[in-house]
Amino acid sequence: MSAKKQAVLVATGHLACEVCDFDFAGVYGPLGEGFAECHHRVSLSKLAEGHKTKLSELAIVCANCHRMLHRSRPMMSVEELRAVIQERRVQSSPLTRAAPDRPDRLCVFYRLIAAGW
Ligand SMILES: [Zn+2]
Ligand SMILES: [Zn+2]
Repeated sequence: MSAKKQAVLVATGHLACEVCDFDFAGVYGPLGEGFAECHHRVSLSKLAEGHKTKLSELAIVCANCHRMLHRSRPMMSVEELRAVIQERRVQSSPLTRAAPDRPDRLCVFYRLIAAGW
């Protein structure tokens, strides 16, 4: 296990994605234990040769967020991507998802309540 993962595991007790809080061990159980990806906050191409990476320059991220970070140009910071998904989570909270124009299970459930079930 990398020094970064070890340090985070010791400090927090789990390896949660710094962008979306995804915890592989929480979702996959023993299979996911100790699994996470390490992301260099500073693009490797911008670092001087022989630069010794500090733990603070690394972020623990899940595979999805890691791909999304590298997909953005210029590369988003962990904090920027976190802000993006948090904003979307607010927009798609269960109550707004259950809006009548987007029927889903929850919406059917609400209709049953409204129908007096
Ligand atoms: Zn994530
Ligand atoms: Zn990365």
